[in-house]
Amino acid sequence: MKIGIVGVGMVGSASAFALVMSGVGREIVLIDLNKARAEAEANDIQHAVPFANPLSIRAGVYSDLAGARVVVVAAGVAQKPGETRLQLLQRNAAVLSQVVPSILQHAPDAVLLVVSNPVDILTHLAAHFAGQLGVPPTRVFGSGTMLDTARFRTLVGHHFGVDAQHVHAYVIGEHGDSEVLTWSQASIAGMSLDEFSHVHGKPLTPQDRARIDEQVRRAAYHIIEGKGATYYGIGSAVARLVDVLLHDQRAILTVCSRIEGVEGLDGVTLSLPHLVGGRGPIAPISLPLDQQERAGLQASANLLRVATQSVLKSC
Ligand code: ADP
Repeated sequence: MKIGIVGVGMVGSASAFALVMSGVGREIVLIDLNKARAEAEANDIQHAVPFANPLSIRAGVYSDLAGARVVVVAAGVAQKPGETRLQLLQRNAAVLSQVVPSILQHAPDAVLLVVSNPVDILTHLAAHFAGQLGVPPTRVFGSGTMLDTARFRTLVGHHFGVDAQHVHAYVIGEHGDSEVLTWSQASIAGMSLDEFSHVHGKPLTPQDRARIDEQVRRAAYHIIEGKGATYYGIGSAVARLVDVLLHDQRAILTVCSRIEGVEGLDGVTLSLPHLVGGRGPIAPISLPLDQQERAGLQASANLLRVATQSVLKSC
């Protein structure tokens, strides 16, 4: 099963490495404007193969994507000094306007998984460019708040001394400052966190919640302060997502897609828990949020709607 990765900077290469380490897929093709970088990453990761799983990995060009089931879009440009957020977005929109048709020309049936940031807006744009070629928007989705959700589950798990895999909790909305931690829906062992806290004899105070909220919301800033970029977490999320796609696992994941059929959110690309199968997100799942969370999600959606419209106008 062939997987393409377009854009082999830190995130694209960490994704390829995670695919190899977890044995997801059989063949990986790396494409980057910077061909020497793609070659070097392919060679370096190839040397991990004998210690990991039998995959082949090579640098290639767009025609090498023929037959790919999934193509990960990790291409992007970095902010220049003095550049506004909108100018940066416009340059990233220009990257996608080249990359998406090039992928679909050679892999017309591929599912496109966008991981470049800001992921919600860039996923919307990628779906827009794919739509101009007749590809349904459901075949283009983004990694959304998968990492934020993983961080939330981990921190709640640490608080109670429970493995994160046994904590159910979602972060929704924008992958960024306006995201919403859905405390009202979080559960362990079938109980709300307040019930579990009572039964378990470990309080979860408003201060604990505020600390966890801050650590989830600011995680990327702290990592970037220390090492300039984040990539291992997102690379592992990509490997998980590609595994779900290749095996039609029907997992519930907080990916982002263009939402339809959820009041107040229609037409906005943001994260909700989605049922994800072999062809991408099947449907978003609308959570019974409390009033504050609902208002937070609506504010996040409004912000994304405005930012997306402003960049779409300039496309
Ligand atoms: P990140 O940390 O998000 O991975 P990087 O700057 O390390 O960011 O990587 C982005 C990668 O995207 C770079 O390797 C860059 O060469 C690549 N890239 C930029 N524009 C294009 C494009 N039009 N086609 C393919 N790759 C691109």
